[in-house]
Amino acid sequence: MKNQDTHLSVIKFPAFVSLTLLIIGGAYAVLVYFLLQMPDTVSYTVRGLLIALLVLIVFMVLSWVLALMSTHIRIKCRYLNRFNKWMLSFVFYPLSKFLGFITFSHPDSLTESFLNFNNEVVMTDQSNIHNSNILVLLPHCLQKEDCTVRVTSDIMNCEDCGGCDITTIKKLIVKQNVKAAVATGGSLARKLILDNKPDVIVAVACHRDLLQGLRDTWNYPVYAVLNERPNGPCKETTVSVASIEFAIQRFK
Ligand code: SF4
Repeated sequence: MKNQDTHLSVIKFPAFVSLTLLIIGGAYAVLVYFLLQMPDTVSYTVRGLLIALLVLIVFMVLSWVLALMSTHIRIKCRYLNRFNKWMLSFVFYPLSKFLGFITFSHPDSLTESFLNFNNEVVMTDQSNIHNSNILVLLPHCLQKEDCTVRVTSDIMNCEDCGGCDITTIKKLIVKQNVKAAVATGGSLARKLILDNKPDVIVAVACHRDLLQGLRDTWNYPVYAVLNERPNGPCKETTVSVASIEFAIQRFK
């Protein structure tokens, strides 16, 4: 990835959310300005709606400030922490997508930026915490297509032929003494998480699956690692094992 793309990938999501909030605030100010020119025609209902809208905008701005702070300051209050994670996945990401849509921005680059932002929040949230139960969640498409070994039941079944990245990941999880599981879809991934109840999840997948996974497990700390697709989607994908190792070391 070029340097310029890397910077864009980091700042795109926060820039889009900030800009959208600025546009909403600006539109509100213009609306109030015009209504103030003819105060006698403004009914009590409209006044009430304007006040409710102002409260909502202030609430959104304060929540966004909290989200920005959470990338470098740990939120100790459990409820505020959960609120922040929920807002990120279900309010701020859709908000940034709206601006992405009207500016014809490539959805993958915005998702990547959101995932980077999420990773910063998770690393800050987990700083100075030593987790004993880390789960590395892998997609089935990492496995070589003609491999007959059933790694979905246990990654240790891999026979280390070196045909795909599973062999390197297997060695890594043995060395780091963490759990790993291969999921064939979202339902199995959710089941694996419920069964293992991990402290932290290091999830490997494509843009779409990671985004969906983050939403499904929004109350878990999930560090996202994007896979690479040299053979097209869902076919013999690869992953930077160094990125997985980096995440495990940060959370241990
Ligand atoms: S490295 Fe393991 S999972 Fe990958 S193709 Fe070889 S035996 Fe199969």
